[in-house]
Amino acid sequence: MRTMKRNKNKNKKETKHSSLVVRWVTVVALTIMVSFVVFSVIIYSFVGQQSMVQQKQTSNEMISKLNSTLTRIPTELQIANVSFALTPSAREVMRGNPPIRSDQQGNRAFNDDLLSSLTNPDLNVVVYNLHGEDVFDNGGKIPTFKKFRDDYKMSRVTRRRKQELLTYQTVRSAKSGKVTGYIIVENKMSYYNGLMKDLLKWMVRISLIAVVLFTLVAYIIVRDIVKPVKEMSHVALEVNDDPNSTARIRDFHRHDELQELAVSFNQMLDRMQRYIDQQKEFVGDVSHELRTPVAVIEGHLNMLKRWGKDDPQILAESIDASLQEAKRMQHLIQEMLDLTRAEQINVQYPNAVTKVSEVLKRVVGDMSLVHKDFTIRLDMDDLPQDTEIQIYQGHLEQLLVILIDNGVKYSTDRKEMNVSAGLSQDEVHIIVQDYGEGISKKEQSKIFNRFYRVDKARTREKGGNGLGLSIAQKLVTSYHGKISVDSVEGQGSQFMMDFPALSKSQAERLRQREEAEKSKK
Ligand code: ADP
Repeated sequence: MRTMKRNKNKNKKETKHSSLVVRWVTVVALTIMVSFVVFSVIIYSFVGQQSMVQQKQTSNEMISKLNSTLTRIPTELQIANVSFALTPSAREVMRGNPPIRSDQQGNRAFNDDLLSSLTNPDLNVVVYNLHGEDVFDNGGKIPTFKKFRDDYKMSRVTRRRKQELLTYQTVRSAKSGKVTGYIIVENKMSYYNGLMKDLLKWMVRISLIAVVLFTLVAYIIVRDIVKPVKEMSHVALEVNDDPNSTARIRDFHRHDELQELAVSFNQMLDRMQRYIDQQKEFVGDVSHELRTPVAVIEGHLNMLKRWGKDDPQILAESIDASLQEAKRMQHLIQEMLDLTRAEQINVQYPNAVTKVSEVLKRVVGDMSLVHKDFTIRLDMDDLPQDTEIQIYQGHLEQLLVILIDNGVKYSTDRKEMNVSAGLSQDEVHIIVQDYGEGISKKEQSKIFNRFYRVDKARTREKGGNGLGLSIAQKLVTSYHGKISVDSVEGQGSQFMMDFPALSKSQAERLRQREEAEKSKK
């Protein structure tokens, strides 16, 4: 049932991803289509305009050639005078030139540009008299005569889905200015119509090919991008279903942001896994640590219940032992809290600055008072008086207390300790040295682990629960420092902490930031 539900969920997510591909591809296809349509319209109208100018020019030339000849006829246009006027020889006379003699004629008729224009198959030319009767035409289809008011008119008409140009010209006698007839030129514009048709056809074809091609390319690219995203989503779902899952995103073998994202994603999952493991371990450790005191208290209470009530000695012993265990638990809980807090220091005190010598003096003084039987020496010869490090003062104190306390706890006969501090290569070194029981090389690497104790039973007697050094390590590393141990079993130990020293300007900047933070609050 659960698996079904999960599968359903997965499918739901899958649909969402494929819709991303559809959306992207649609957008790309639409954008390309719109761009091509706009581009085609611009080209189509530009070519159309240019070609139309040429066609108009052809019609106008025809009209003006005819008109300039026919205006020389003083009377109404008739078949006789129009046909005569249009012969090359007559035109020469009308222009005031001598008539063409027969020996000059040669092939003049074929060179005459009016006559050659009249043979243009695209142009239907008709000359009408005042009554609208055809007195001359060039043999093509005759456009129907319509009276027109203006002397000149040009109009575009569409016939059988083809564009045509109709040009009207009123002929006036050059002498009297009276209307003598009309010319109509019909331009079928076959070149223009053919050109525009071909252009349209090719543009549609190219646009369609481009849309298909670009959509295909867009699909391949988008799918390539979505695929890793999809895979990441699968891994995320898998980890979401089972936080202990070891599923990780595989190497995509690409050098881009998606690969970077996948690497960060895997790192994040690893980190999460580590936290989960730590958490589990911590809960296990804590319950284990608490079990002993609880068992001890329970044992004493049972004993009291059975025999203790009437035996004042057992009563006193059991109450004392239970109280001691309760105190131990309290101590343990406090240290666990410290450990948890130590993991979040940077967030709490990011700008804290502390003068090392002051804290050292104070803590060593206090600890000497608490442990009167101990001689704790403080050596700060190699530490300039005003050396500062980036740490919250309370934490530096806590660190020193943990180390000095351990020195006391694990001491033998020689009740002495040296605390020293120095500055070298921009680092502050603080050393806590004791002459106690020491730690073997094998144990040295483990003592910083949570709840680790070299000798569980003996440490318990001394009140240790194995958290002090892990708290110390968390604190030190949170402040970008290092903690290490050097010890010889039976001779003593030396714990060393290194912190980056702050320059005067760095310390000042941190202080200013701290001030600014405070005033914000
Ligand atoms: P605890 O509370 O047990 O002292 P720590 O984390 O401080 O816990 O120390 C872990 C273990 O390391 C101790 O149990 C002890 O065995 C060993 N240890 C720590 N400091 C010293 C020291 N100065 N001398 C000898 N052993 C030490």
